[in-house]
Amino acid sequence: QPVLGILGGGQLAQMLALAALPLGVQVRVLEPDPRAPARLCAEHLQAPYTDPAGLSELAQCSAVTLEFENVPVAALDNLRDKVPVRPSAALLERSKHRAREKLALQEAGAQTAPFVVIDSAPDLQGALRAVGGRGILKTSELGYDGKGQARVGSDFELGQAWEALGGVPCVLEGFVNFEREVSLSVARTPSGKVAFGPLIENTHRDGILRTSLYPAGAPDGTEAQARHMAQAVAEAWGLEGLLTLEFFQLAGGGLLVNEVAPRVHNSGHLTQDGGGLSQFEAQVRAVLDMPLQDWRPLHPTAMVNYVGVEGATPDWDAIDALEGTHLHLYHKDFRAGRKLGHVNLVAPDEATLRERLAVLETLVP
Ligand code: ATP
Ligand code: MG
Ligand code: MG
Repeated sequence: QPVLGILGGGQLAQMLALAALPLGVQVRVLEPDPRAPARLCAEHLQAPYTDPAGLSELAQCSAVTLEFENVPVAALDNLRDKVPVRPSAALLERSKHRAREKLALQEAGAQTAPFVVIDSAPDLQGALRAVGGRGILKTSELGYDGKGQARVGSDFELGQAWEALGGVPCVLEGFVNFEREVSLSVARTPSGKVAFGPLIENTHRDGILRTSLYPAGAPDGTEAQARHMAQAVAEAWGLEGLLTLEFFQLAGGGLLVNEVAPRVHNSGHLTQDGGGLSQFEAQVRAVLDMPLQDWRPLHPTAMVNYVGVEGATPDWDAIDALEGTHLHLYHKDFRAGRKLGHVNLVAPDEATLRERLAVLETLVP
């Protein structure tokens, strides 16, 4: 019986485990936090990611994957000769570092917003003008949910923002006036089979994903373009496993890649309840080299994230009473700004979905 190892035991590991079990696959997670979400549905090796004993237990698995980017590369290096690690340490090194990632995206032929790499103070000189006079400064490492970012509109603001971010290596990106944000995942098995997830439309609030929607309202041709870029990146980077691309869709339908994640993605959570294969099953299949096909919901589907808000709780009774809702909670302690769960919503047609989504959004603070 295959056993899938996961570096990290957060909600993505929880949902990967829940998708793996019916495929006859057991899951083992290496995760230092004793209260990690995946502890309830996977074998929990509670140890630091670089712990030799934990790593040697993980190395007994059929293959190892990861659920977040900030796994120490030393942990992957330790595993490399003992068990297949998918995606590879080399791919992770790229995608955990914004500057390296953007350069590697361009090398693979994917379009990005204009950017300047800021390694030290002299790099600030002329950087804002080079990206169009307005931009977003982002730390190259450790940022998520809009943390480690600042919008800047003048050289003075840029200098201040860089200091406020700690003077660490950053990327200054030109501000993109996008029409919408969309995402798409690609999976590639070690045998070389490539499969795609659906094109999903995303709305953010305060830098955190708020709502995802399928089908995306993007023009014809946009999905084909997204697949084309995703396949180019998957092949150029030698992907084994699943990779998600976040895009800015410009007026007219053109796409720029914002960033990538070497794993399942928050926007893809709606695939759990849309009726088709889920992104979690797709990642498990890709990592274990099982048969894999394109995946997409069979019905119009949406997702609303449940993020902790001080002094406010979702109206659970009304959410349960709304037709087509599916609740997903992560067994995490409350903290303001923390992702605690999500609600998926399925409807027979797009008009009904939009109507019920408008109601659902009022019920989740
Ligand atoms: P995630 O939680 O997705 O990993 P993150 O912290 O890595 O987020 P980004 O995805 O880079 O951050 O940015 C968060 C959001 O900020 C984007 O989804 C988009 O809404 C907005 N944003 C980021 N970069 C730009 C840009 N260059 N122009 C306009 N808006 C942007
Ligand atoms: Mg990110
Ligand atoms: Mg992002």
